[in-house]
Order: sequence, then C-alpha cells, then structure tokens
Amino acid sequence: AKDEGKNQFRVYDVTLNPNAEETIEIKNSLRVALANDEFIVYYQPQIAVDTGQVVGLEALVRWVHPTRGLIPPNDFIPIAEETGLIVPIGERILQLVCNQSRAWQDAGFPPIRIAVNLSARQFAQKDLSQRISSIVGKHRLDPQYIELEITESLVMKEGMQPALHSLREKGFTISIDDFGTQYSSLNYLKLLPVDKIKIDRSFVKGIARDRKDEAIIVAMLLIASRLNLTVIAEGVETVEQLSFLQQNNCHEIQGFIFHKPKPAEQITELLASQSHR
Ligand code: C2E
Ligand code: CA
Ligand code: CA
Ligand code: CA
Repeated sequence: AKDEGKNQFRVYDVTLNPNAEETIEIKNSLRVALANDEFIVYYQPQIAVDTGQVVGLEALVRWVHPTRGLIPPNDFIPIAEETGLIVPIGERILQLVCNQSRAWQDAGFPPIRIAVNLSARQFAQKDLSQRISSIVGKHRLDPQYIELEITESLVMKEGMQPALHSLREKGFTISIDDFGTQYSSLNYLKLLPVDKIKIDRSFVKGIARDRKDEAIIVAMLLIASRLNLTVIAEGVETVEQLSFLQQNNCHEIQGFIFHKPKPAEQITELLASQSHR
C-alpha cells in the first residue's frame, strides 16, 4: 500500500472529447440533423440581483440525435463551426427562439429578453444584420428582447464592426460572452458597441478561493459601471460566489445555484409561477 500512487496512469474521460471516428460521424449527420429539424433549445434563466426575478434567458442549443439521444453543444458546435454549418444552424436556432418567444407572448406572458449565441462564422454573411432583423420582425418581436452574445475571440474579425453597429441601431442588445478570457478585452469595450458583459465562469470559480480572481472581478465591475454597461456573472454555483457578486454590485446572475438550462415547457412553468407572485 506504501507504493500506491506510483506508476499510476492518468485516466482520461473519453466522453469529454469525441474521438476521430465520432467526429466524422457527427460531421456527416449534422447536415441530416438540420434537414430533419433535430435541434432544440434549452433556456437558462438570468436573475436580477436586486429583485431576485428572472429577467432574461440564455438560449442554449441541444441536438436530439435519433440514436444517441441528447448531444451537448460542446460535442458538435466546434464541428459545425469548422464545416461552416454553424451558419444555417445558427439561423435555425434564432428561428426556434423567436417561435418560442412569440408563443410565450401569445400565451399572455410579458415579453422576456432572450440571449442568443452568435458564432464568428455567422458574421461572414454580409447581410447578417438584415437576416437577423428579418427573422425577428417576421415573428413580430421587438429587438430589445433579443440579446446577441458574441465571444471575444471572434469579435474583431474583419467586417464585424459594421454588422454590430447596424444591429445595435436596430435595437438589439450586444453582449460580450466569456469576458476577460481573451487578450484584448478592454480594446473590445473601446471599439465595439457593447451593452453588457458576461463575467466568465473561470473567474467566478475563484471567489472565496483566489484573491486574484476576486480582484479581477471587482475591477471588471468598476470598469463596467464607469462605461454604463450591464454585468452578468455566469457559472454561479455557491452561496459564497453569489454573496460576493451581490456585495460588489453585479447586476445579474446566471448559474446552477438558481437554474440549469431547461426545456421550454419547464420555463413556461417558471414564468407562470413568477407572474402570480
Ligand atoms: P456559453 O455560451 O459560455 O454557455 C454557458 C455554458 O455554461 C452552458 O453550457 C451552460 O449550461 C453552462 N453553465 C451555466 N451555468 C453553469 C454553472 O453554474 N456551472 C457550470 N458548471 N456550468 C454552467 P452548454 O449549454 O453546454 O453550452 C456550452 C457552449 O456551447 C456555450 O458556452 C456556447 O459556447 C456553445 N453554444 C451553446 N448553444 C449555442 C448556440 O445556440 N450557438 C452557438 N454558436 N454556440 C452555442
Ligand atoms: Ca453564451
Ligand atoms: Ca459564456
Ligand atoms: Ca464559454
């Protein structure tokens, strides 16, 4: 027993990364999935710190595979981006979100803001702003209830700035996802029309454990407040994290401490219980 721990193998979880064979299979079936309408959207509530109310939802795609069941986005979005299929898939996701939003409003719920993730590849379309606003308009939705999440790594791609300005002018909210994880975050704030930042989970994890993470979060909140930006923290799981963010005036919280991403029917129940409160 003394020598236990020596000569141990690292055990890798193969489910974390699909192997090469699986990747090829996914690549081939993504096109079929699109044609057969196998994508669905889960929604994760975003909570206002001051009122505790659900003030927004983030739309997170899932693939309902006929034989493999529910496939998480990390297993196919990177492949969809590589193949360019993210463009039609992204558009389909926006349509699903708009359908759902229209259904909730038709059922009598007050309009709720829904955040949609945009991939860099989608900005390669010259008419992205036009396409988005046309889908939203067809569903008779006010753009102020659609938030567009952009990840930092892709924000500066050529041609992106005009599209973002045009979307902002149409009334969409622009938010920077995974804020602080790339190398030129502050430059993005300076150059792009941004309404909101999402503090990445990697910083939130360090609350009550790592003074550097705490200092960085405080600094982000200060910069955001000086620039009049809304701040949401994502990946909030513990009471310690929540109270730290509360004390430092973070506006909104998204994380398992409140809700995991859920299918639309469960969100309907949540919205119903909130409106009777
Ligand atoms: P993301 O945009 O950063 O989304 C947040 C991810 O963190 C989600 O994973 C969510 O379920 C997870 N999460 C939320 N709260 C917590 C928490 O408290 N603890 C932990 N451990 N995790 C939490 P999900 O749904 O698996 O999505 C993963 C990524 O896939 C997303 O990261 C996004 O980059 C991408 N993705 C998802 N849906 C779409 C989409 O419709 N379009 C595009 N382009 N990408 C998407
Ligand atoms: Ca996101
Ligand atoms: Ca994120
Ligand atoms: Ca992320």
